[in-house]
Amino acid sequence: MSIVRNIAGIAKGMSITFGEMLQPTQVENYPDGPGPLRGAKFEQRYRGAHVLQRDENGLEKCVACFLCAAACPSNCIYIEADENTEEKRISSSERYAKVYNIDYNRCIFCGYCVEACPTDAITHGHGFELATLNATNLVMRKEDMLTPFQARTEEK
Ligand code: SF4
Ligand code: SF4
Repeated sequence: MSIVRNIAGIAKGMSITFGEMLQPTQVENYPDGPGPLRGAKFEQRYRGAHVLQRDENGLEKCVACFLCAAACPSNCIYIEADENTEEKRISSSERYAKVYNIDYNRCIFCGYCVEACPTDAITHGHGFELATLNATNLVMRKEDMLTPFQARTEEK
């Protein structure tokens, strides 16, 4: 009986193999073409490299509350806070993040930091090309993650 079961199992497995052989070949032309995630339906939910967001006035949304760092299970977020002044306003609140680093050597892309942020300052982008031969390149700084300021043009 066990021989019959084994033969049936092999036949079942091989039927899937031969079935796949008859399907059209799908080729990703990456890295010369678009990456496998670009344009894919599930891209919206993909947890890629982090982005630090700005508000509609161009100020940084991060108010240096440290909640993301507290929520991070890998302890890979490093923040130094500083006070905003009348002359130098970086965020809309009292404080802003003078230094904001994420160490991608340790990050597991769990998204807890994004969930913990009360101002939606930190989000996951779609970037995934993070591989490097130098581990120090995996420490992302605020300047690497901050979304560029785009001045709003007045509507005519
Ligand atoms: S995604 Fe997870 S591991 Fe990475 S910085 Fe955020 S909380 Fe930490
Ligand atoms: S990213 Fe969000 S949670 Fe983290 S320090 Fe800034 S405001 Fe607070």
